[in-house]
Amino acid sequence: MIKLHDLYFKPFISEEQIQSSVEKLVEEIASDLGDEMPVFVGILNGSFMFVSDFVKLYPKPCEVTFIKLASYEGVKSTEDIQRLIGLTQDLTGRTVVILEDIIDSGNTLEEVHRIFRNENVKQLIIATLFYKPEAYKKDYKLHYVGMEIPNKFIVGYGLDYKGLGRDMPAVYQLKTTQYMTNIV
Ligand code: 5GP
Repeated sequence: MIKLHDLYFKPFISEEQIQSSVEKLVEEIASDLGDEMPVFVGILNGSFMFVSDFVKLYPKPCEVTFIKLASYEGVKSTEDIQRLIGLTQDLTGRTVVILEDIIDSGNTLEEVHRIFRNENVKQLIIATLFYKPEAYKKDYKLHYVGMEIPNKFIVGYGLDYKGLGRDMPAVYQLKTTQYMTNIV
């Protein structure tokens, strides 16, 4: 068990489980895209570790870029998403693969769709390492999902709680007490 700020987290997904999920996503996407050269777009901050591991394993030439969006305050998702760093490159006619660390409510994904609607891309493909089906409120198709997880707050492998935990290679889940179930 680990403590970040005021909260306790318990081991949830091991480094090995994460790596095999990343490998599987790489295999599926590389095989489906064939000779198409994709632009992988990571959504910062949470996806930095996933994108790094993913593109190291990707067996063919690809481009990698990032945009920065934010929708979480502490352990709660907010409706208010801000695009903090935008795209600078021309993506006209390109196959864009969004690499998300986690899809929760889908609010961030909605903003991603809004951003790419005007970019005249050839196709927009959504890949996420973690997905919380119970929390998802949108209809956007998720083309590739690494792991489905329960609707509980997690940290590690890029995901933080108030700035801490991003550096951990494994994933931990919030340990709820009766008192804390009111806030998550
Ligand atoms: P959504 O907009 O789908 O509600 O949430 C997407 C973003 O919220 C993710 O990119 C991530 O930054 C953050 N997020 C969602 N669920 C979790 C979680 O369980 N733990 C952490 N640390 N961040 C989360």
